[in-house]
Amino acid sequence: MATKATLQEFEFINNNCADIKVDSNGKTSLKCPRCGKPLLMDRNGSSTEIYCTDPNCIKITYRGI
Ligand SMILES: [Zn+2]
Repeated sequence: MATKATLQEFEFINNNCADIKVDSNGKTSLKCPRCGKPLLMDRNGSSTEIYCTDPNCIKITYRGI
């Protein structure tokens, strides 16, 4: 089960958000701040989920970006 990112992890992704590149598989150019695996991004209507390749690692949901 994915866990919510800590504030520090959230800020890391927020700070790097502008530079994120996403390939056709949803894989981003960002590495997970917790385990170093690639982060995935999934846009769903008005919310965006960013989550680790590892299903037991972090998951962040943004709204309205
Ligand atoms: Zn991770």
